[in-house]
Amino acid sequence: MLEGKVVKAAGGFFTVCDETGKEYICRARGMLKRDKASLMVGDRVLFKPESNADQSLAAEGLIEKLLPRDNLLKRPPVANVDQLVTVMSLKEPDCDWQLVSRLLVLAEQENITTFLCLNKTDLVSKKELDQLDKELDHYPYTIIYTSVVKGTGLEIFKEKLCGRCSVFAGPSGVGKSSLLNAIEPGLFLKTGSVSDKIKRGRHTTRQAELLTLPGGGSVVDTPGFTRLDFFDIEQDQLAELFPEFDSLRGNCGFRNCRHISEPDCAVRREIGRTLNPMRYKHYQYFVEELSKQEAF
Ligand code: GDP
Ligand code: ZN
Repeated sequence: MLEGKVVKAAGGFFTVCDETGKEYICRARGMLKRDKASLMVGDRVLFKPESNADQSLAAEGLIEKLLPRDNLLKRPPVANVDQLVTVMSLKEPDCDWQLVSRLLVLAEQENITTFLCLNKTDLVSKKELDQLDKELDHYPYTIIYTSVVKGTGLEIFKEKLCGRCSVFAGPSGVGKSSLLNAIEPGLFLKTGSVSDKIKRGRHTTRQAELLTLPGGGSVVDTPGFTRLDFFDIEQDQLAELFPEFDSLRGNCGFRNCRHISEPDCAVRREIGRTLNPMRYKHYQYFVEELSKQEAF
């Protein structure tokens, strides 16, 4: 029995990549297929290669066992993701900071490491960058700045992907495909202007696929998610998904402080000091959004 990773799933067959990089098209034991979500891209499995001498099986292996998962993303459905890479452009389109916070909350909820990539730095002036730098004071996540056009930041970006399984998130047109093509020219991902993509639309729902990076690591080839609702977050769970509140909440006057209007709130005291004001604003907004949902 060999151990491998499912890199593609289509039509009841699973492409499994073993430790040496060799790919096998596999069938799965019945019990692993019964539930639609039971085997997915990213899963680690044990499989038995099949000789297939008479070509009758149309498969090169049989998946016998699903190994335990570290985590599970629902959209796109991928298991064992190491990191979520949130990509935004600074211009064309403008960076949607609230969407960034939403994606980061999701990553926290799924317990996935994450960093932020701000692309198209070539479209903003030095002055605008300085202004942004001020707004991002005490931002609680790693941010890297890139420009595919100028070729800046790409080495660091590549390093961050090395040896990990990454999922990209961010709106269409920010440069996700361009970034991947720039660091791995062999990938040939389709790029295009925002309007082209909207026109083209997305009529076909495709299964996610894992692309192996020659330098080690892999990326999920779908554009990831762009819009999210907090369907399954409880209002009082939200504060735990803002890691910058961690060291503060113990000092709030009330043990079940929501950090909204309670007196003696250690979180609110730090806004503009060690807490980024924009992040707190998003927190407030999300609390309100969730309380409206819960009212129904
Ligand atoms: P995706 O939808 O996120 O995959 O975005 P694409 O990679 O298709 O890029 C959308 C458009 O932005 C394309 O026309 C790219 O050529 C352009 N683009 C990508 N990166 C940059 C960049 O760093 N600077 C500028 N000015 N344009 C870029
Ligand atoms: Zn508080």
